[in-house]
Amino acid sequence: MHGECCFESEVLAAVVECRWPERVESELRVHASGCAICADVALLAVALREDREVLKSIAAPPESGRVWWMAQLRARREAEKAASRPITAAQVFGAAATAWFAGACFGASSDWFRSEFVRLASGAESAGIGVFLTSGVGLLLLLAAVSIIILVPAAVWLAVGKD
Ligand SMILES: [Zn+2]
Repeated sequence: MHGECCFESEVLAAVVECRWPERVESELRVHASGCAICADVALLAVALREDREVLKSIAAPPESGRVWWMAQLRARREAEKAASRPITAAQVFGAAATAWFAGACFGASSDWFRSEFVRLASGAESAGIGVFLTSGVGLLLLLAAVSIIILVPAAVWLAVGKD
């Protein structure tokens, strides 16, 4: 943002009073078409005006109504800035949960693998095929854990990115 513009509140008032854009002074319209701040205010205010909640505030006294509007516009801008950040808190949480879950799966499977290995290794002649089968299952569990590590963050990313 480039700070503030002295026509900002005039544009806002025109939108609130439903004079924007047809029934305002042509100077103001020309200014807004070349001013990023006023164009932004007009766009946001028109969008806000469509909210049912906002309609009530139009009936408020001019001064408190204006303060309310400026607060709403600021909140919208902040929200838009927050939404455009590449990594959101939801994504960080999703990734952390996924890492923890994958770690738990891997830890459990490796513990199981180790105990199976010890049991089979101390066993008799069937140890050879037993170890082969066990390592096959261990490998499958490892592949499952790896695919969870890759797929879940991708799913979280898509889900968060879509809204
Ligand atoms: Zn301006």
